[in-house]
Amino acid sequence: MIIVVKNTTNNEDIPLIKEELSALNLSYKVTIDDPYTLIHILGDTTSKDATRWYAYESVQKVIRIHEPYIKVLKTPEHKTNIILDGVSLFEPEKLIIAGPCSVESKTQINQIAAFIKAAGAKVLRGGAYKPRTSPYAFQGLKEEGLKLLHEAGKNHGLFTISEIIDKEDLPLFLNNVDIIQVGARNMQNFSLLKALGKTNKPILLKRGFGNTIEEWLMSAEYILNEGNKNVILCERGIRTFESFSRSTLDIAAILAVKKLSHLPVITDPSHAAGSYDLVEGLTLASIAAGADGVMIEVHPDPLRALSDGAQSLKLEKFKALILKVRQLENL
Ligand code: PEP
Ligand code: MN
Repeated sequence: MIIVVKNTTNNEDIPLIKEELSALNLSYKVTIDDPYTLIHILGDTTSKDATRWYAYESVQKVIRIHEPYIKVLKTPEHKTNIILDGVSLFEPEKLIIAGPCSVESKTQINQIAAFIKAAGAKVLRGGAYKPRTSPYAFQGLKEEGLKLLHEAGKNHGLFTISEIIDKEDLPLFLNNVDIIQVGARNMQNFSLLKALGKTNKPILLKRGFGNTIEEWLMSAEYILNEGNKNVILCERGIRTFESFSRSTLDIAAILAVKKLSHLPVITDPSHAAGSYDLVEGLTLASIAAGADGVMIEVHPDPLRALSDGAQSLKLEKFKALILKVRQLENL
């Protein structure tokens, strides 16, 4: 970290900054680059706050050399590959997670499970605790929904994933799903992240729609820091000034994660699109950009879906899309 200080006559800040650095046990080196004095803090400053130095009036800027996270950082020797019951999630093919926005009934979830399994998906999704914008909208089947999802996964040889919205429900999730999803709205629910970090379940961490890539990686760092290394990042679109799609899928975020971190990254084209007819293009764009997989909402009867019908693919459309994904990944 480099603290850039403006050279003013009799700058009183510099001795005070040096004093503070010594008190913090940080070694430093000072160089002059007129009209600035550069105070280089030496060593690993990952956990150090860069903003505190701006409290000194003559500090022009503070430049970080070390990223503010360390456990999610890409290293040459390390690539996360998540193994569940001896099955690798990202090999030999890209991960396909599919299922309805919400678990609605035993028939619905089993019909979808049978279909997506045959089409090549490895994980069945289904919301049971739904974070809805309106308190009057369908909130999910809760515990019953999780159990139906669990049973459908077992019946059809699929792993399962569902979103947790409250730390209190953790025991239910530990017993009923293989992967726990943290939704966009909870990406910075740090007490939830810490609790999930103490488990050994893979966690799918969605990017918040108002969060930067750095904040997203910092949230993943919270989970890894508690010991759970099995984190999958999921780009699901961010809020921009554009309203054509529900959110704007940040394709560059896939490339950013690949550059910065060893964690796998998938996308959720459905929630970014908001409309079924954009899902195919966004899915293929994600795969082309190097995503490790996708999560897609499907429904046998989208017109009657209890949530997110407009963005759900009909089963046959999903099957055709997966064929295209497989072709693209083999190019
Ligand atoms: C979901 O996957 O059903 C969901 C609510 O997604 P998000 O958190 O991305 O809005
Ligand atoms: Mn949904």
